[in-house]
Amino acid sequence: MPLGLYLHLPFCRVHCTYCPFAISTDLSLQDAYTAALLAEIDSRAGGLADTLYLGGGTPSRMSLPNLTAILERVRSRFTIAPEAEVTIEANPEDISEETLREWRALGINRVSIGVQSFHDAELLPLGRVHGATRAREAVALAVREGLRTSLDLILGLPNQTVASFRETLQTAIALGVGHISLYMLDLEEGTPLAVQVARGRTALPEEDDVAELYLGAVSTLAAAGLQQYEISNFAKAGDESRHNLRYWRREPYHGLGLGAHSFLDERRFANTRDIRRYIADPLAARDFEEELGEAEQRREVIFLRLRQASGIDYADLVRLAGQEGIAWIERGLTDGWLRREGARVAFTASGFLLSNELISQLF
Ligand code: SF4
Repeated sequence: MPLGLYLHLPFCRVHCTYCPFAISTDLSLQDAYTAALLAEIDSRAGGLADTLYLGGGTPSRMSLPNLTAILERVRSRFTIAPEAEVTIEANPEDISEETLREWRALGINRVSIGVQSFHDAELLPLGRVHGATRAREAVALAVREGLRTSLDLILGLPNQTVASFRETLQTAIALGVGHISLYMLDLEEGTPLAVQVARGRTALPEEDDVAELYLGAVSTLAAAGLQQYEISNFAKAGDESRHNLRYWRREPYHGLGLGAHSFLDERRFANTRDIRRYIADPLAARDFEEELGEAEQRREVIFLRLRQASGIDYADLVRLAGQEGIAWIERGLTDGWLRREGARVAFTASGFLLSNELISQLF
């Protein structure tokens, strides 16, 4: 089976107030980091890859020579399928006609833009560098240049209202993107935004409003031809993220770079999130490594398949979850958080909202 490759490019201009990712704002480390990443690429086994994902961090902040060196090294170590999906995550402030052309010349054919909102009042508390106007221009440019374009939006932001979110969604649709990722704000402990909220300095929208907006967004996007295919992801037909589908389908992938996770032969492992440790010894800087046991594999299959709108085969769910699975499905169908389509069982949009809690009832 072809592989997926994930490359973590961790540099950002500023550290956004809600961000829990492995990032660095010290751009002076960029060359040393690139050298370490090249060494890690050299150390991996090779093989055929049909998805390549440059994530971060802000990959669009990498200098062109470094980006070129990384992609050339990947192509020399792995066979990249001619029709491979090659995605770069980019922030609006880094997108111009020139950068888009440079990326395309490197074989990048998909751009995922961190928009989050089309309202300045919502971007400000997040510490984002870009404003709404720049975000609109960047997305329009990427669509016009003909790259497959995705954008990220966040639900539940400070200052977000029902009206402002609906406007953001309509703007995203009108810009003609083929893919939208819609995430709920996840307030990670210890982030500046979480501290602000805990101290009562920043207020978040009511949970019930956020839930209602999510349900509304699922139908609005579907009406615009962007079908939900995963709990947080919506796409026009054929524009699904093939790389991300790989995660949910438990297909193998190498994760390279700071904090990157890999899944190979039922083994999961991750690199350190400490950039200096990674640069010092990229081949030894592991954070964890685990071989999945049979029970964990079963749990994971159920969890990952149910994240997808295509759900899971009824018989598979019963086989993996045992007799309790039958009662759980019946409960879900009666209460409306599951739906059945032929042989398959899947969450409804309201089921997705409570999916973690509901799945935990199975074990
Ligand atoms: S740009 Fe993205 S990765 Fe970088 S700090 Fe902000 S949220 Fe985190």
